[in-house]
Amino acid sequence: MNINHPPVDDRPLDFIRQIVSEDKESGKHSQPITRFPPEPNGFLHIGHAKSVCLNFGIANEHSGRCHLRFDDTNPSKEEEEYVESIKEDVRWLGFDWQQHLYFASDYFEQLYHFAEQLILLGKAYVCDLTADEIRHYRGTLTEPGKASPYRDRTPEINLELFRKMKAGEFTDGSRVLRAKIDMASPNINMRDPVIYRILKVAHHRTGNTWCLYPMYDYTHCLSDMLEKITHSLCTLEFEDHRPLYDWVLDTLQTECHPRQIEFARLNMTYTVMSKRKLLQLVNKGHVDGWDDPRMLTISGLRRRGYTPGSIRKFCELIGIGKKESWIDMGVLENAVRDDLNETAPRVMGVLNPLRVIIDNYPEDQMESLEAQNHPQKAEFGTRLLPFSRELYIERSDFLEDPPRKFFRLGLGREVRLRYGYYITCVSFEKDDDTGEITLLHCTYDPETRGGCSPDGRKVKGTIHWVSANHALSCSVILYDRLFMAEHPDNDKDVDFTIHLNPGSRTILDGCQVEPSLRDISPGIQVQFERQGYFCADKIASSPGKPVFNRIVTLRDSWAKRNP
Ligand code: ATP
Ligand code: MG
Repeated sequence: MNINHPPVDDRPLDFIRQIVSEDKESGKHSQPITRFPPEPNGFLHIGHAKSVCLNFGIANEHSGRCHLRFDDTNPSKEEEEYVESIKEDVRWLGFDWQQHLYFASDYFEQLYHFAEQLILLGKAYVCDLTADEIRHYRGTLTEPGKASPYRDRTPEINLELFRKMKAGEFTDGSRVLRAKIDMASPNINMRDPVIYRILKVAHHRTGNTWCLYPMYDYTHCLSDMLEKITHSLCTLEFEDHRPLYDWVLDTLQTECHPRQIEFARLNMTYTVMSKRKLLQLVNKGHVDGWDDPRMLTISGLRRRGYTPGSIRKFCELIGIGKKESWIDMGVLENAVRDDLNETAPRVMGVLNPLRVIIDNYPEDQMESLEAQNHPQKAEFGTRLLPFSRELYIERSDFLEDPPRKFFRLGLGREVRLRYGYYITCVSFEKDDDTGEITLLHCTYDPETRGGCSPDGRKVKGTIHWVSANHALSCSVILYDRLFMAEHPDNDKDVDFTIHLNPGSRTILDGCQVEPSLRDISPGIQVQFERQGYFCADKIASSPGKPVFNRIVTLRDSWAKRNP
């Protein structure tokens, strides 16, 4: 997808914001109350960011509020670690739920009472069919379902059985509570869905209090109702669940009835987004944890060096719609590039160093050259770069046999050193066995200090460099896409991990960067001039020894490789 987005501010409101505005104008709601409802069974990813930005964004725009609610109804897959990481990620994205932190498990008692009410209304029954039988009775898209033989139990019997289920008198899976709706409904979700199951598993918050757990669909609408949510925003796969959402609230005649609105989820090419698959990558060691910089998790993007502003901007750019679409990685990369272009100080770093000796520069001399920290922004100030007889330049900035339009170094060619002097290559040394260039001899023009020549002589190319004796040697990690296939999980019959890109991470040791970077704090972004944006890794760096992650290149290399 390579859409040219118009400037974000000029775009009409998306369809959800339109609804929220209309509801405010009509007086239906004075202010929106939304919620972001993650299940604590994994870390948040860029798709969740879309939902976070939408829910918190709408609340902020209307001085409403957005709740953070953990949808923790499945005790076997949920963990406290995930709760903490999700809170950290939402905060880092720049959003605040204030005192409105909730857990669906806080409502277990109330949900249980609503279930008893449904039973008394004749709208729910205990069913003894096995899971397989229930599936079999449910019918198909073309055939209606068949009533369970337990469907006509009386409310009294149902109540007694349900209380016994709660008291732990039955084994896991032996009985469930089902809503009594319509076995012939064209919508399979309405064919007496299960709303409670027995699960003798400890819950990360309620411990062993419960052996009966409510199902997601039943829990979600009631949690929304209890929190007086006005607009319950979810992804399109819940569209077919909306009748059930409404049925539960209508049947219980609740005073508050939030409106569920569905939008298209974010899909990105060359990655997987399902938490189950991300967990598999982590557990099988394909990546170094949830925060591996190649993962499109919020923690991975943060560690890689993405800024919260760039992720919010990305979410704004992709917009909210009703139609499923695929977003190219290039859109996310552009967002971070645009953001860092404004905020990241410029420095010099040589990734593949080639040694240069300036033959006519005095051996024991050293001088400091002033360099701007941001060429377009004077307020970023300047710094001093040490310059001496021996330098490192980028290996790719010299060619033994350069074409005419190669505006960098070749034998007899002159270039400008950024913030330095003009230099001309006079000879080079080469390893006879490997053919590799090992050293350049150059001369410099002392009249060109600061990068301009008094005689008006023009040089086309400007290259970056560092002083060999002053540079800091460090490692830099380059990243490429994690998968080689555009849709790695398209084919259900093959394991998506076969599409992993073995070259997704390249570690360059012996890079040479300017000495000012010795004490850079992990997490701070800089631009290595001509190379891209980099960030010292939080885990691999140690004091005085940064290890840099490349966040993104300066140009859209992605688009080039994806014609
Ligand atoms: P699971 O596969 O475990 O259901 P999930 O990705 O749906 O995972 P949830 O924790 O249920 O995870 O998601 C929390 C919220 O984020 C939900 O409202 C969900 O609709 C939304 N969400 C999840 N993935 C995306 C996505 N790719 N794009 C937009 N919203 C998403
Ligand atoms: Mg989900």
